[in-house]
Amino acid sequence: MAGQLVKEWTAIQQFPAATQEKLVDLLGKLKSQNVDTLTILVMGKGGVGKSSTVNSVIGERVVTVSAFQSETPRPVMVSRSRSGFTLNIIDTPGLVEGGYVSGQVLDTIKSFLGRLLLTKTIDVLLYVDRLDSYRVDDLDKQVVQAITDSFGKEIWHKAIAVLTHAQLSPPDTLSYVEFFSKRSESLLKCIRQGARISKRDAQNFAIPVALVENSGRCNKNEGDEKILPTGTPWIPNLVQTITGLALNGKGGIVIDQKLIEGPNANDRGKLFIPLILALQYLFVIKPIQKRIKDDVARETRPSWA
Ligand code: GDP
Ligand code: MG
Repeated sequence: MAGQLVKEWTAIQQFPAATQEKLVDLLGKLKSQNVDTLTILVMGKGGVGKSSTVNSVIGERVVTVSAFQSETPRPVMVSRSRSGFTLNIIDTPGLVEGGYVSGQVLDTIKSFLGRLLLTKTIDVLLYVDRLDSYRVDDLDKQVVQAITDSFGKEIWHKAIAVLTHAQLSPPDTLSYVEFFSKRSESLLKCIRQGARISKRDAQNFAIPVALVENSGRCNKNEGDEKILPTGTPWIPNLVQTITGLALNGKGGIVIDQKLIEGPNANDRGKLFIPLILALQYLFVIKPIQKRIKDDVARETRPSWA
C-alpha cells in the first residue's frame, strides 16, 4: 500500500491466550483460502461506538474515542500485519450531522478510499449501531440509503450489523435474548428498507448481527476474555463473523473512479433542484402571474371610485 505504514500487529499478544488462539486460527483459515489482506470499513451514526470497536479489535488505542461528540473529523485507516496477513480497518466520522445524513462526510470517506485503496476492495462493512437504542427511525433508513447509493446494494452482501453496548439489562418484560432478537430484527428491517432489498431478495442478503461491548467494565470469563451476557467471548466471535463474510463467495466492493465520483443520496437530490425551480416557475408562478394580470385587466372600476 503506497505510503501507508503497515505495523506489525503486536497488540494481538495483549489478548488473553484463548482469544489469541482463536484469532490466529481464523487468520490461518483466511490465509489457507488465499486471503492475505482484509479491508474493513466501519460506518454508522456518530457516538455509536465505531472508534471504540476499532480499538477493541486491534487491541490497542489506535483511534480517538469521545463521549460527547463524534471526534473523528476524517477517516483513519489502521493497518496491522501478522505472519504475512494484513488487516486494514477504516474508522470514519459519523454519517449524521445536524439531524441529516451528511453528503459531505460520505464524499470525504469516498475520496479517502480513492487516495488509499484505489482498485482495491472493501471486504467487510461493519455497520455500527447501539443495542440499547429502542427504536429505529427514518434517519436510520436514510443512513442506510446513503451508504447504498454510494457503495451499491452489493455492499450489504459484505455487511455485519454490529450492536455495541451489548452488556445491557433489558427492559423488565423481556429476556436478554428476546430483547436482542427484537432489536436486531428491527435494525435488519430498517437496513432492508433503506437498501431497497425486497422480501424475495432478503434470503440472498443474510446480514449477520454481532454484539460488541467496548466498556472496560465488560464481564470476563475465567480465561479473562470479555464476554457477552450470553457468555460468548465477543472479540473472537466478531472476528469469526468477519471471516465468514470474507469467505462467503461474494466479491468485495471494488474502489474505482465510478464509486469515488458517483452520487450519494444528497448529491442526487441536489441535481434536481434547478429542474424543480424551473418547473415551479413554468407551472406555478407563471400561471399565477397570468391570472393576476388577467384579473387586473378585467377589473372594472367599483361604483364608489
Ligand atoms: P463513534 O463516534 O461511533 O466513533 O463512538 P465512540 O467509539 O467515540 O464512542 C462514543 C462513546 O460511547 C464513548 O464515550 C465510548 O466510551 C462509549 N462506548 C462505545 N462503545 C461502547 C460500548 O460498547 N459500551 C459502552 N458502555 N460504552 C461504549
Ligand atoms: Mg469515532
